[in-house]
Amino acid sequence: MCVVAHPDDECFAFGGALALAAARGVESYVVCLTEGQAATYRGNAESGAALGAMRRAEFAASCDVLGVRHHELLDYQDGRLEFANFPQAASRLVERIRRFRPDVVITFGADGGLNTHADHMMVSMLTTAAYHWAGRPKRYPDLATPHQARRLFHLSTAYFLPERQSPQPMPWSVTLDIRGVQATKNEAFRQHVSQAPLMEKTQSTFEQYGGYEHYALVATAAPQPVCLMTDLFEDL
Ligand SMILES: [Zn+2]
Repeated sequence: MCVVAHPDDECFAFGGALALAAARGVESYVVCLTEGQAATYRGNAESGAALGAMRRAEFAASCDVLGVRHHELLDYQDGRLEFANFPQAASRLVERIRRFRPDVVITFGADGGLNTHADHMMVSMLTTAAYHWAGRPKRYPDLATPHQARRLFHLSTAYFLPERQSPQPMPWSVTLDIRGVQATKNEAFRQHVSQAPLMEKTQSTFEQYGGYEHYALVATAAPQPVCLMTDLFEDL
């Protein structure tokens, strides 16, 4: 299960992990909290609602390319996640974790990702709380049967975007070699037609560094020291 803030996060940030999971037959589910109505690049949309509808369709097309079997867009306002009611938003994720019952959950790190977006920070904190709370019967006792996923990973990075203030990324413990699915990841990004100028802007960085995705294991079922991994599903 992958939790993101905006349509296109699923591919530019997590596309490699999702495509690799699909290739080995793992059933995946992406939850996106906003429609991305506040994006800088707006295609020919004349309103936030029109852009949201456009991006909703682009998100579905991208998930199809990545082999994501279940995907859902929630109705939070893009750019405003830090003002959302925390326990209420977390409960919506708790409910989804309990119904889908994932082994592995992935989301952004608290740094907000490559562009340090506050929505990315909030999705990290909400998902981290929901990951733990989903397994505790005392939290939201009326929401489905508790489920404790086995591992939570935060996205990290080994490089920064030029002309952007750099995040302070969490040291990674997982290096995913995504070169075999990089074309799929790019194809998914191309489904976000309204965001084509963004793709063009970031293309050279992704060409240079895009063969790998980096994650930090931040919660796990068994106590263990930090160990380096090359697979989110190692030994599961
Ligand atoms: Zn985003």
